[in-house]
Amino acid sequence: MFKQSAQHVASYYAQTFPATIPLRPTLHESLHGDVVIVGAGFSGLHTALRLALAGKRVVLLEASRVAWAASGRNGGQALLGWSCDMPPLEKALGQQRTRALWDSMCWAAKEMRELPERHGFDIDYRVGSLWTAVLPRRVKQLKEALHEAHDKWGYDQLRMIDRDELGEWIDSPRYEAALYDPQGAHLNPLKLALGLASAIEHAGGRIFEQSQVLDYQSVGDGFIVRTATGEVRSDVLVLACNAYIDRLDRTLSQRLLPVGSYQVATAPLDPALATSLLPKNSCVIDNQFVPDYFRLTPDHRLLFGGGCTYLGGIPRDVAGATRPYLERVFPQLRGVQIDYAWGGHIDCSIRRTPDIGREGQRYWLQGFSGHGVLPTLAGARAVSDAILGDEQLLALYQGIDNARFPGGDSLAAPLEAAAKAWYRLRDNF
Ligand SMILES: Cc1cc2nc3c(=O)[nH]c(=O)nc-3n(C[C@H](O)[C@H](O)[C@H](O)COP(=O)(O)OP(=O)(O)OC[C@H]3O[C@@H](n4cnc5c(N)ncnc54)[C@H](O)[C@@H]3O)c2cc1C
Repeated sequence: MFKQSAQHVASYYAQTFPATIPLRPTLHESLHGDVVIVGAGFSGLHTALRLALAGKRVVLLEASRVAWAASGRNGGQALLGWSCDMPPLEKALGQQRTRALWDSMCWAAKEMRELPERHGFDIDYRVGSLWTAVLPRRVKQLKEALHEAHDKWGYDQLRMIDRDELGEWIDSPRYEAALYDPQGAHLNPLKLALGLASAIEHAGGRIFEQSQVLDYQSVGDGFIVRTATGEVRSDVLVLACNAYIDRLDRTLSQRLLPVGSYQVATAPLDPALATSLLPKNSCVIDNQFVPDYFRLTPDHRLLFGGGCTYLGGIPRDVAGATRPYLERVFPQLRGVQIDYAWGGHIDCSIRRTPDIGREGQRYWLQGFSGHGVLPTLAGARAVSDAILGDEQLLALYQGIDNARFPGGDSLAAPLEAAAKAWYRLRDNF
C-alpha cells in the first residue's frame, strides 16, 4: 500500500497554504543521534519536539513530506478522548488509572492551545466542539457521557444542548441533541505540523524528507536504520508510521488495519450563509458508527467528511461519494460547488484503542483509529517522558492489550468490511 511521494496531496490545506511549503533535505549520509524517529506526522513531530527541547540529538526521517499523510489531511477536529471511547480503557486499566489517562488528554487540549504561540506560529485555532445524536435512542449516549465525564473523570465542562436549543448551534434538521465541549477545538492541521517541524529544527533537531526507512536492526545497545541513500545510528528508535508501517515492523503492522477516509471542502460560501450553518463556529461530529464530521474554515468553506472504505482504496470520485452525506446534513447546500476532495488512511486497531508502548529502547505510537489530533500529543508526551526517564504515563498505555487482527492481512479487511456494513445498517434504523 505504501508509496513514497514528493508532493502533498491536493487537499484544501496544501492548496491554500499561505507560503511555499519548505522542502527538507533527503538523507545522504551516515549520522549518529540519540533518538531516531520514523514518520513525520503528529506522533513523530510532537515526540521529536519534546525530545529536542530536552536536549536530545533527534533525527526525524520521513518517507515523503512532513505531514504528507493523515496529519496533513485530517478534519482538524481537536476532540478530547480516544476513538474507542472510555469503556475499553476503563476495562483494561480500572477507574483510577483511566482517570490519569484522561487527565493527560486534558493536558493535551491545553497544550494544543498554548504550543503554537510558544513557538511563534498560527494554526487557525477555534474553540468548541459538538457531539451530536442523529437517532433518538442515541441521545441517551450523550447524557451518559456527560454524567460519566463528571462522576468518573472529574470533567465538568460538557453541556447538553437539547433539540429546542440546537438551532442556535447548527442549522440542520438531522440532529436530536448535542453535547458541547468548550475544551474541544478545530484547527488547520498542516499549519500545525509545519509549525512543529520548524520548532524542532529551531531546537536543534534534524528532519529529512523523502527518506523512507527500509529496515532497522538492533546493534549493541542501539539501532541502525537504513534508507536507500543513508543510515542513522542511535540509542533509541521511535516508530511513528501510522497506517503505513507495512513491512518495516510486522509485529506492529499485524495489529493495524489501514482504513480509507476522505472529505471535501466547498467553495467559499457567502459569509452570512456560512455563519448561519454553524452560528457559534463549533466543529461537529455525530455519534453514528460511521460518523459525519464537519466544520467551517476561516475563509468560509464547509469542510465535510462522512465516509470510509475498508478494502484499501479511496473512492475515485470523493466529491461524488461525499455530497449525499453533506446535503443530508445541510439540504440548503444542495448543488454547492466542491473545490477540493481528498482522502487518507487511518490506523485502526482491533478495539480502536491506542497502541503505544516500548520494548527495550524501541518505542512506537499507533492505533489512533481516526481520532488522533489530541491523542497523538498525549501519546507523544508518554513516549518522550519515558525516553527521558519518567515511565508513568507510558505504563498506562502498556496496560492496554492490542491484539492482532484475526486471519492476518488477507482476512482482516473483509471481516472488518462485513462488520462495518452491519453497524452502518444499525445506524440507519
Ligand atoms: C481524512 C482523515 C480525517 C481525519 N480527521 C480527524 C479529525 O478531524 N480529528 C482527529 O482527531 N483525527 C482525525 N484523523 C486522524 C488523524 O489525522 C491521525 O490519527 C493522526 O494524524 C495520526 O498521526 P500519525 O503521526 O500517527 O500518522 P501520520 O500522520 O499518518 O504520519 C505517519 C508518517 O509516517 C511516514 N512513514 C511511514 N512509514 C515510513 C517509513 N518506513 N520511513 C519513513 N517514514 C515513514 C508516513 O509517510 C507519514 O508521513 C483523520 C484522518 C484522516 C485520514
